[in-house]
Amino acid sequence: MTGRLAGKVAFITGGASGLGRVGAERFATEGASVMIADIGDASDVLNAIARAGGTAASVSCDVSSDASVRAAIEVTMKTFGNLHVLYNNAGVMLSADDDPTNTPDDVIQTTLDINVKGVLLTCRHAIPHMIETAKRTGEMSSIVNVASFVAHLGAATPQIAYTASKGAVLAMTREMAAIYARRGVRVNALCPGPVMTPLLAKFLSDDAKRQRRLVHIPMGRFGEPHELVTGALFLESNESSWMTGQSLIIDGGITSAYVTPEGPAWS
Ligand code: NAD
Repeated sequence: MTGRLAGKVAFITGGASGLGRVGAERFATEGASVMIADIGDASDVLNAIARAGGTAASVSCDVSSDASVRAAIEVTMKTFGNLHVLYNNAGVMLSADDDPTNTPDDVIQTTLDINVKGVLLTCRHAIPHMIETAKRTGEMSSIVNVASFVAHLGAATPQIAYTASKGAVLAMTREMAAIYARRGVRVNALCPGPVMTPLLAKFLSDDAKRQRRLVHIPMGRFGEPHELVTGALFLESNESSWMTGQSLIIDGGITSAYVTPEGPAWS
């Protein structure tokens, strides 16, 4: 198998849907053996990867549970024998998540358990294997933590628990990058702007809500999953071999602009 991830083993959380699914398919096309770890059913993406001639397996995993993550990493090592790439993509944005005065405790807790603790737990169980793999191959292993553009700027359409969780992902990314920089593991964050995956589609079901966001995107359109996954692929591959602790923002210009252009989106 050739490709930018040829011969590598990739563990992808939340790979059954949205950005994770497109990532799993792309990583497999680029030569990786992919383990999809999700609480949801991954059979559709597994079939798609098999049809395209790629290599993938799946394991049921709740990233907020230490035992579940430990078991999923063990399955990965038994199945593929190495671990070069960790793509911490699983995340939730819950519908009752709002401003600090009215976001329920259970929403805050669940969001932090999945989006923050989930990243820590996969790192806890994957990193020892990623260090061993790096020693064997002589190439650094790579972790990409999916944060969000809301880790870099605020919005008056609040999901305060979600925003807090993504800020924490960025902070953990920098710290882990520093810890492991001489031990064989690079750690970077991918910060997507809004992309119409199932996660976002349920919040933006009516046109007024979509327009309220689009006016703040300089390019005038939402992102496509492949436009984010290409960034993840760069960070996970050896092409970014001297890059660690960084945040790659792919957002149609949102975080760079105060006033956005008028007129139709480029097409
Ligand atoms: P999605 O809802 O389409 O997919 C999320 C996947 O995570 C699903 O397959 C789901 O089953 C899985 N998942 C949820 N909880 C889990 C758990 N406890 N354990 C294991 N798997 C679990 O979402 P998406 O839009 O593809 O989002 C992927 C990542 O990108 C998330 O971290 C999200 O916060 C981030 N993100 C998305 C956008 C966007 O606009 N879509 C923007 C910025 C950041």
